Amino acid sequence: MGRRDVPCGAQYANLQAVETMGVEPNTGNKTYRDAIYQLGTRDWANAFRVLDSAGAAAVADVLWGTTLPNTAIRKWCVALLDHHGDRTSVPVLRHLLSDSSPTVRRHAVHSIGCQRCKPEPLDCAVVDLLLDRIEHDPSPRVRRVAAHQLGCQPQEAHAAPTIARLLSTERSSRVRSVLTWTLRMHTRT
Ligand SMILES: [Zn+2]
Repeated sequence: MGRRDVPCGAQYANLQAVETMGVEPNTGNKTYRDAIYQLGTRDWANAFRVLDSAGAAAVADVLWGTTLPNTAIRKWCVALLDHHGDRTSVPVLRHLLSDSSPTVRRHAVHSIGCQRCKPEPLDCAVVDLLLDRIEHDPSPRVRRVAAHQLGCQPQEAHAAPTIARLLSTERSSRVRSVLTWTLRMHTRT
């Protein structure tokens, strides 16, 4: 769908998100906005490269892209926030942890948890956010990525007992096997 095909007023998947998170609706850079629409097409890889090399300069537009109704656009915008997310991205990433698409949630879980790819660590309660996804996300793939990211976080005293409880109630054997590793990471001395 090209940018002209987007019906007026239906542009934002979640207008409330645009309003409450302070994401600017339509004041961005035209090159980046065009690239963001292109993320929803077969030529997404080129657009991704443009936005990825723009880095911090495109972050405001990428944040705006996370509010669009096209799932592929939201997914790639969340992936870009993994590389370029800063403190202004935190409310948006938190919001995307409960996106309607499991693919977007999976990328959001990675972006919240992965500190390695970012210029500076995200300032938020990463461990609690990941524990919440493992406990409540209906998708086993999202829970598995959350468990993996949790195992990569520095130890926090309250995490181990909760991980042990979640391990005892998790129904997916694949998630349980990652959680077993996660628990080991949070109990080793
Ligand atoms: Zn990453």
